[in-house]
Amino acid sequence: MPERTESESRKLLRRLRDVLAVPGKGQDRLDSITHLIADSMGTEVCSIYLFRDPETLELCATEGLKKEAVHQTRMKLGEGLVGRVARGGAPVNTANAPAERGFRFMPETGEEIFSSFLGVPIQRVGEKLGVLVVQSKEARGFSEDEVYAVEVVAMVLAEMTELGAFTGDDGAMKALHRQPVMFRGTQGQEGAAEGRVWLHEPRVVVTNPVADDPLTEIDRIREAVGVLRVSIDDLLEAQELDKDQKQVLEAYRMFAHSRGWLRRMEEDIMRGLSAEAAVEKEQSAARARMEQVADAYLRERLHDLDDLSNRLLRILTGQGRDTGAEMPDNPVLVARNIGPAELLEYGRRLRGVVLEEGSVGSHAAIVARALAIPLVIHAERISGEALNGDAILVDGDQGIVHLRPEETVARAFRDKIAMQAEAQKRYASLRGLPAQGTCGTVVALDMNAGLMADLPSLDSSGAEGVGLFRTELQFLIRNKMPKRAELASLYTRVMDAAQGQRVVFRTLDIGSDKVLTYMKPSDEPNPAMGWRAIRVGLDKPGVLRMQVQALIRAAAGRPLTIMFPFVAEHAEFAEARSHVLRELHRERSLGHPAPERLEIGAMCETPSLAFAPRAFFELADFISVGGNDLKQFFFAADRENERVRRRYDTLNLSFLGFLEGIVARAAEAGTPLSFCGEDAGRPVEAVALAALGFRRLSMRPASIGPVKALIRRVNLVEAREVIEAARARGAETARAALMDWLATQAG
Ligand code: PEP
Ligand code: MG
Repeated sequence: MPERTESESRKLLRRLRDVLAVPGKGQDRLDSITHLIADSMGTEVCSIYLFRDPETLELCATEGLKKEAVHQTRMKLGEGLVGRVARGGAPVNTANAPAERGFRFMPETGEEIFSSFLGVPIQRVGEKLGVLVVQSKEARGFSEDEVYAVEVVAMVLAEMTELGAFTGDDGAMKALHRQPVMFRGTQGQEGAAEGRVWLHEPRVVVTNPVADDPLTEIDRIREAVGVLRVSIDDLLEAQELDKDQKQVLEAYRMFAHSRGWLRRMEEDIMRGLSAEAAVEKEQSAARARMEQVADAYLRERLHDLDDLSNRLLRILTGQGRDTGAEMPDNPVLVARNIGPAELLEYGRRLRGVVLEEGSVGSHAAIVARALAIPLVIHAERISGEALNGDAILVDGDQGIVHLRPEETVARAFRDKIAMQAEAQKRYASLRGLPAQGTCGTVVALDMNAGLMADLPSLDSSGAEGVGLFRTELQFLIRNKMPKRAELASLYTRVMDAAQGQRVVFRTLDIGSDKVLTYMKPSDEPNPAMGWRAIRVGLDKPGVLRMQVQALIRAAAGRPLTIMFPFVAEHAEFAEARSHVLRELHRERSLGHPAPERLEIGAMCETPSLAFAPRAFFELADFISVGGNDLKQFFFAADRENERVRRRYDTLNLSFLGFLEGIVARAAEAGTPLSFCGEDAGRPVEAVALAALGFRRLSMRPASIGPVKALIRRVNLVEAREVIEAARARGAETARAALMDWLATQAG
C-alpha cells in the first residue's frame, strides 16, 4: 500500500475526528464531513444517505448535489445505485453510473452530470446505517486504494452514528435506539409478554474508532490476536470435547491463525482505524457476505468468523459478556440465536424470547415451547436495535414484537394480557370439573410435556395425565449421549411428580433435522421424511433399548406406558414392540421388577398407518394421532415452511373425513385413541375432534382451560351434525359453519 495514500487516509480520519470533537449540531457535522471528504478525495460530490426506517434511505447531507434535495430525496432499499449498495452491503464502483444496472435518475439532485460513482455501505456489525457516496464528472473508476479509503471513512461514520454524533432536532438524524420499532417475525410459541430487554450477547461499545498512533494499534491487535489464539488452544485441550465441538474449535483456530484476517485488520489500522474499529470493519464485511451466501457450510464458517470477531473485540475492550448490568425482573431475552441448553439455563425466569434466526422446529423453539415462554423468531435486526433494559412487548400469537413501544400500543397490549389473565382465572375455576359436553360426552384432557420443569403444570392445569412426553428434549439439551442411569433417574422423577397419573413416554423422535450434536450428522435431502424416529430406533436399536431399560427401571413396578413415534407400517410397530418385550424379559432376569401394567402404543403420524391391517390396530394397546406430522403429510405441506404451513385448514373436510376413518378403525378393533398434535389445544379444533369421536386429547398445559371451557358449553352431537351439514353442502372446510354455530351457543 503506498505510503502517500496511507497518510492521506489517516489525515482525513483525523480531520474527521476533529470535526466530530467540536460540539455542534448533527446537521452541521454531516455538512462539514461531506465537504471534507469531497475535498480530500478530489471529487465534486460527496453525499451521505442514512436510513429513515429499515426500508428507506434519505439524502441527509451533500457536497456537490443540489442542497434542496437534502432530506427530500429518498429511495427504497435496493432502489437505484445507492439502494443497491445498502442492500448488498458491498461497494458499487463505476465510471459510467447512468449505464449501470439499477441506476435511477433523480432530477432534484442534479446528478445527471456526474459520471463516476462510488458508494460504500455505512454499516456496523451487520446493522445497516446508510451509504456514503462520492461522484465526479470525469468518467473514471475509483482505484482499489480509493475504495478502501472511503470504506475506512464509512466505518468511522458508522461508529460515530452509533455513538449519536449526528443526532439532533434539526432534521439530521433521529437518535438511534430510542425510537419505537415494530418487528414482524414468525410465531414460535403463543402467548403475550411485557418486559425489559436482556441481550444474550451484549454489544461491545467502541468509543474511539480513529487511531492516534497506528503502530500502537498494531501492537494492540497483535497482542489481542495472540491472546485469542491461546484461549482457543486452551479450549481445544480441555477434556470432554465431543467431535463436533472439536471441529468448530478447529475452524476457529484456523481463522485465528489466518494471515489474511490479521493482515486486513492491520491494513485498516494503517489507514487510520483503531484496532477495535478494524475488527468491526472486517466483521461487518463478513456479516454482509453472510447475508448473500446461500451455501449452508459457508454461512456456518462466516458465522464462526463473526463469533471470533466478537471474542477479539471483548479482549481488546476488556468488555466481557457480563457487563455488570443486572438482569431485569421481567427479562425478555433477545438474541440472534441461542442453543437449547443455554435457553434452558435461563429457564422460566424469562418472560419471552425473541430471536433473529431459528426455525419453528429448532431446538431452542422446542425448549421455549416446553417452557411455555412466548417466542418470536425471525425478528430481523432486533439484536442490533435493542439495548439492555429497553421496554419490549412480545406477541407470540401474532409473531410481532414492539420495541420501546408508544404508550398507546403498550396500553392496548396490557389490556390483552389482562384479558388473558382474566380468562386464566376463569379456567382455574374449572380445574376440578370434567370436559363434558352438554350432550353428556366426557373428553379426557391430557397435557404434553418434555421437561421436568413441565411437571408442576400437571396439577395446576387440571390435566388428567401426560398424553405425550417428548423424551428427545433431554437428548437435545445435552452435548453428549445421556447415560442409562441418568435417564432412569430423570424418568423416575417424572413418574414421581405425576403421582400415579398416566405418563405416555414417547421414545426418541430424533434424526435428520433434530440432529443430536453427538450423533453423526447425516445430510438428507428431505429430513422430515428421512431417517428419523422409529426408523433410527429400529436400524440402530442400541439407544432405543437403553431408553426402554431406563423406563422399566424408573417405573420400578409402577404402570408404564411407552409410545413409538412415526410408525408407518404394522411390521415396524411389531418389531419395536418386540424390542420392548425382550428388554422387559432381560430386566426381569437382572432382578428389576416388571411394571404392574405395560402399555405399548403407536403414534399415527403417517397416512399409511391409517390403512394398516387390522392386526396393527389390535396389536397396539393404544394409538395417538400426531396431528402435526399427520397433517403435513396429508396435505403434503411442510409444517416448518412459513409459505405453506398455514395454507390448509385443519377443519378441511377431507382431513376431517380422514380422521373419522381412523376413529372408526380404532373403534372397530376396540383400541383406545387419542390426539396429541398442536390442534388439540385449539378450542374450535378440539370441539371438532371430540365431535368426530376422539375421547382423549393431549395439549399444551395452557390450552386445557380454554378447551375445557368450550367443550363444556356445547353439544358434541350437534357439533357433528354441523360438520355433516357443511360436508353435504360441499364446503371445503367446516370452520365457517362451526364458528357460526358456536356463536349461537350459550356462554
Ligand atoms: C405430532 O407430530 O403431532 C407430534 C405430536 O409430534 P411432534 O410435534 O413432536 O413431531
Ligand atoms: Mg410428530
